[in-house]
Formats: sequence, structure tokens, C-alpha cells
Amino acid sequence: MVQKRTSASKTRMTKKVLLSEYQKFYYSPRTCIGYVIQYDEDNVIFQNWICNKRTTHAELQCIYEIKQNSLIKRFTPCTLKWYMSWTPCSECANEIIRFLNKFCQVKLEICAARIYFHKKKDNRRALRNLVKAGVKLTTMRWKDYKSMWRRFGTGEEIKKYEFFEKSSDHKSVNWRWTLKKILKEKDRDSDLENALSLLKI
Ligand SMILES: [Zn+2]
Repeated sequence: MVQKRTSASKTRMTKKVLLSEYQKFYYSPRTCIGYVIQYDEDNVIFQNWICNKRTTHAELQCIYEIKQNSLIKRFTPCTLKWYMSWTPCSECANEIIRFLNKFCQVKLEICAARIYFHKKKDNRRALRNLVKAGVKLTTMRWKDYKSMWRRFGTGEEIKKYEFFEKSSDHKSVNWRWTLKKILKEKDRDSDLENALSLLKI
């Protein structure tokens, strides 16, 4: 039998925080991450949630916590799942890739409510680079909200419309479709590589 070893986050996330940070069409200036380190579905090593502090982006804070507390064993493969309110910016993406190169036993899965400044070229390229580095990147569906809430929340009932309702303040973006489009785009350098390979140079 697989032994369950769950270290629940010390502080539970309130519904107010979940709503203000993870709504699809309310653009909070903060980034939050609910993170889960697990060997498999039944064997969670650690979980916690954090929001960025003034100067440190949440991704870097999360990586720092993992390293500082030695939450990952050197040679044991594990999955690190991030429930993110925004996808990583380009600078954080580079740090994440550096982290994954160092800890190659970690498989990172990012599930994000919204895409951070999705029109900025650097951020779009950063998302492709994460996928190239082996990161599984998706946008949050209702089932992800529910599983995140089960893990980190205080237990009140949540309803789908509370997160997916369109806002009059912000233009509603189809995040799933946008991510698909971004990941399909080709980077100029790989275009060149493709052209050269076609010319058989
Ligand atoms: Zn960042």
C-alpha cells in the first residue's frame, strides 16, 4: 500500500483570496501559486500556496522555498504542480528553466488562470521555451479550480460562474485559445533553422 504523506499548507486560502487572485477576467496585480510536490497522485510530499511579495516574483519565491527547505530529493523523480494565477514572466521563465536543468528529476506542470501580458513577445516566447524545456503548460479549467480549492482552501462552496463570469472592466480573453496560439507560433531562430534544413545546408 502506498503511504500517504501530506504536509498541508499551514494557512488555508480564503475564498476571498481565491476569487481576487484567480478569477479569469479580474486582473490582479499579484501572482499567486499553489504548489504541490508529489511522487504520484496518492503520495504528496509537500504543498503550500504563496503570493508574490513586493520585490520577489512568486515563482522565484517558490523555487527558493523548495531549495531552502530541501523539499526535493536529489535522485527521486517527482512532479511539481503549480496552480498559478498568471503564467510566468520571461525573466522567471529563464529561472525556472535553470532550476529544471539543475533538478532534472522534477517534472513541472503549470496550470494558469490567465496569461501574463500575453501580447508581449518576450512573454510569449518564454512560454514556448518552458514547453521546450519539458514543462506541461495548460490553462485552468473548472476541474483545476476545484482540485486547487480542495487542496488549499477553507472549504466553502465555490461556483463556476464566480470565476468565469465576464467582467465589464476588462476585455475578456479566451485564455485557452490564446495559449494554444502562442505555443504554435514559431520563433525566428527556429524558422531560420527550418529554412536551412530545407535547403539542406
Ligand atoms: Zn516573474
